[in-house]
Amino acid sequence: MRLDYLTIFPDYLAPLDLSLPGKAAEGGLIDVRVHDLRTWTHDRHRTVDDTPYGGGAGMVMRPEPFGEAFDALGVGAPDETVVFPTPSGEPLTQRLAAELAGRERLVFVCGRYEGIDQRVVDHARDRTDVREISLGDYVLNGGEVAALAITEAVVRLLPGFLGNAESLAEESHEGGLLEAPAYTKPPVWDGRAVPDVLRSGDHAAIAAWRREEAVRRTVERRPDLLPPSVLDDGTPIVRAVPADAGEIFTLQRACWVQEALVNDPAEVPALHEELPDVQAWLERWDTYVVRRAGRLVGAVRARLEGTAWDIGRIMVAPDLQGAGLGRALLEHVERVAPAEATSYVLFTGAGSVRNQRIYGKAGYRLRRDVEPPPGAVVLTKRRR
Ligand code: SAM
Repeated sequence: MRLDYLTIFPDYLAPLDLSLPGKAAEGGLIDVRVHDLRTWTHDRHRTVDDTPYGGGAGMVMRPEPFGEAFDALGVGAPDETVVFPTPSGEPLTQRLAAELAGRERLVFVCGRYEGIDQRVVDHARDRTDVREISLGDYVLNGGEVAALAITEAVVRLLPGFLGNAESLAEESHEGGLLEAPAYTKPPVWDGRAVPDVLRSGDHAAIAAWRREEAVRRTVERRPDLLPPSVLDDGTPIVRAVPADAGEIFTLQRACWVQEALVNDPAEVPALHEELPDVQAWLERWDTYVVRRAGRLVGAVRARLEGTAWDIGRIMVAPDLQGAGLGRALLEHVERVAPAEATSYVLFTGAGSVRNQRIYGKAGYRLRRDVEPPPGAVVLTKRRR
């Protein structure tokens, strides 16, 4: 694989000669070429930036040196991808790294200052395949660190790069889950023993333990990675994002009007909330939503209270009720409960007979021994 880097700080990319990419270059697996963008400037100061059109702070990188560099490097070949690291790009994931590992050549274009004139990206896209990639939701000073990170994630996937290809298959993110914890010798250190199962020699039990730990870690740390539950028609249930607040607020109003008709409206908290209330609880609860044709039509939230997974705000757009969406949301939120949860708990209006019937069918039992909030009833179900 050929790797080209366009940068105004070629020294920044010196680590490419070290570590894994360094070894791969020695072995001829990758051909690394770092280019100083200023090679393609023509003024005394070798200028690469200028003030932004439309005003604003900072400087923007001018397009001409990039255009000349692309010509000189022959950008536009098949099986090539030009990578622009940028905080507004698609996130770098294992899947994306694997995709890039299949290319013959990657050309990294490292921005500095306030970024690169947009026409450079458009121009590259006219010539070849372009990916704008972000390392994460934060802003770095330049694209070099991102280019290094992308390189390392990609190069270690090249066939023949890692001694042990199996270690790739077992890693975090490969199977959509985080990796289980790892242990080595000694068997006891600092009074802490390696889990017995790992020393048992029982390969099936070890595999099962690793899978369980991987799921537990993923649920705890990165529930957003869990495969979305998918409704029968293929619609996924996904984690809510802050930008969903307005639609959830609207859906909540629509759904709880019905509740107000069968309960005392003063005792229907969801109906009294305003948008800032919804925005606030979205930050504190694990919330999932479902969209149909772009429209937010269902939601549910949950959080851990002791060892109970407190489920609430199951809402389905009134025109879609009775089609199984509520059941799918409930099953989904039960499935993503953290490992500590030993039971599920739900509250609904004392007058909401229909809801109580639905929850009863889902295995929930009315708890007369638990004090409910005013006007409500409590239902619980043991986790199996
Ligand atoms: N004004 C730009 C913005 O808000 O999107 C940020 C420019 S940043 C200071 C300068 C350069 O750093 C970018 O052009 C990009 O190459 C690189 N960069 C910064 N943050 C990054 C990130 N999260 N992922 C990838 N590259 C990043």
